[in-house]
Amino acid sequence: MGLIIRSSAIHAAGCYTTQPIAKGALVVEYTGPRIHKDQADIKYENSFVTYLFGIGDGTTVIDGHGTAMFINHSCNPNCETEEIDGRVWITAIREIAAGEELTYDYNLYDGEEDEAHCNCGARSCRRTMYAPEEIKQRQRIAARKSAARKRKVAKTLEKSERRRSR
Ligand SMILES: [Zn+2]
Repeated sequence: MGLIIRSSAIHAAGCYTTQPIAKGALVVEYTGPRIHKDQADIKYENSFVTYLFGIGDGTTVIDGHGTAMFINHSCNPNCETEEIDGRVWITAIREIAAGEELTYDYNLYDGEEDEAHCNCGARSCRRTMYAPEEIKQRQRIAARKSAARKRKVAKTLEKSERRRSR
């Protein structure tokens, strides 16, 4: 399949097709060495950009190397990913015209502090590349953190109130 990498309006470089692609077609495989998730955590501890793709139960990740790692995220994508016999394929979910940029929904998880902002420009943009379930999870954590902060503030105020009343 005729795929090229060039600069993208979404983010840095993107992957474009030079030929029309039929709906349902296997477009490109997400290739790269398979490593354990813990190994990836160590390898990319201080990296800003990673190209990791979780497979199976998520303990193994593909350390992206090849064309597919350049495909950007979109909240309204033209492709999706499919795991077939331990291999990950980018497949077309609609007819794609020659010259279009290929995108799929990253559905990120396990991102810790990283915000992963999305600039895909789709009307349905979630403003983040995290999966909807992960967003809920992160909101719960953020709510807990802000509740803890509020408690801390309240304590400080109490103390100063006491000082003033003395
Ligand atoms: Zn978006």
